[in-house]
Amino acid sequence: MRNGDFLTGTIGMINSSCDLAGIDDRHRRVLTSISRKLTVDYPVRLDNGTTTMIRGYRFQHNNARGPYKGGIRIAPGIVDSEVAALSMLMSLKSAVLSIPYGGAKGGIVANTSTLSSAELEKVCRGYIRAIRPIIGPNTDIPAPDMNVSEECIGWMLDEYERMVGYHAPQVITGKPMVLGGSRGRSSAVAWGGMFIMEEVERRLKNHNKAFAVQGFGNVGGNLAKILYGRNKNVRAVSDSTGGTFREDGLDITALAKHKEKTGSVTGFPGGTDISNEDLLGLDVDVLVPAALENQISEKNADAISAKVLLCLANGPINQKGSEMLAARDILVVPDILANGGGVIVSYLEWAQGREGFSWRGSEVSLRLKEVMKSAFKDVYDTAREYDKDMYTAAYILGVNHIVTAMKARSI
Ligand code: NAD
Repeated sequence: MRNGDFLTGTIGMINSSCDLAGIDDRHRRVLTSISRKLTVDYPVRLDNGTTTMIRGYRFQHNNARGPYKGGIRIAPGIVDSEVAALSMLMSLKSAVLSIPYGGAKGGIVANTSTLSSAELEKVCRGYIRAIRPIIGPNTDIPAPDMNVSEECIGWMLDEYERMVGYHAPQVITGKPMVLGGSRGRSSAVAWGGMFIMEEVERRLKNHNKAFAVQGFGNVGGNLAKILYGRNKNVRAVSDSTGGTFREDGLDITALAKHKEKTGSVTGFPGGTDISNEDLLGLDVDVLVPAALENQISEKNADAISAKVLLCLANGPINQKGSEMLAARDILVVPDILANGGGVIVSYLEWAQGREGFSWRGSEVSLRLKEVMKSAFKDVYDTAREYDKDMYTAAYILGVNHIVTAMKARSI
């Protein structure tokens, strides 16, 4: 699936849930549009003395429930339709989790692997200067997404504060601790996914032992480590270079060291190399897409053997694919619920910044758990009320919450 299809698919899913929830045309038109699309081109001087133009995006979808909120990703192939779809998913996610935020998304078209640290810093600072007119602690609060490290967020915060002339840690989340970050932010998506798994096991009475994880970055890597720490059998993981497999479970600590040394999970002495495609079809209890969008569709849904699909990446499966899995009684826990740990701990970081207090890790973890479990229950109850699968139910819940807020504002 190409990224234009990602946007078409997201709009299609919003429209189908509006049909099911009985949402009128007026609100549906708002939900399927982007409020503001900012595209910027800014110059960056490279180490060799030449200047290159960098393209950046900041798209704001809906702010009926609170300030716009959403991550920034850096990748060479980012296009506007991808940023638009991701901004819609952010509004829906905040709504499903009952977090008082709207939805936005940012993108920087660049390849982090070919930039020096000094060049990456200029790319990050230039981006914040370019989008400065539309972000702020009460208007739009960016955060990290793919290929954006804590260090990048530190540069972005510093650039913003230099422009406004005062400390404003609430303008961005995912900050280093020393600049007002929250304990638990870097592993929040993975822990949130883990709390959702606990609910799946408790409510659906299935005990999941064998896992396959696509992606070994912030989200997939942290999840694999947590699962390994809980003695689960992580049978396979992959990254952009390919995957590694071991029937009895991979030693994730040793694999992380191997990846650090070689830059890849392939060639791991404790596993056998497999392709990403092989990983998706493995016989495991839980398959966790934690890398990219558009990984599972009607084209390969038949090859999935897992009992549960825990979507930690944004948009890893399309509507048709999820319908095919639901027809085979495979539980799809949608991204707008399962990967909510990131925005929840971002919200807690923002709240700590506003209060000027730093909470203990145990407090952050407890609140994260409470919000994830409560959102799981809301989606589960919606699924029963509408007699639909969890994936469809999450969208119904999300559009209902946003439309309720729009109506309260007479929009
Ligand atoms: P990351 O850059 O830290 O890691 C991405 C991982 O995916 C890397 O291991 C990379 O090698 C791998 N990858 C890239 N292409 C691949 C391919 N074709 N097949 C298999 N693996 C591939 O990014 P991340 O922060 O872990 O984000 C992963 C996903 O989770 C994205 O969809 C992102 O939008 C979503 N997400 C991230 C956050 C967050 O706070 N970081 C929050 C919510 C959702």
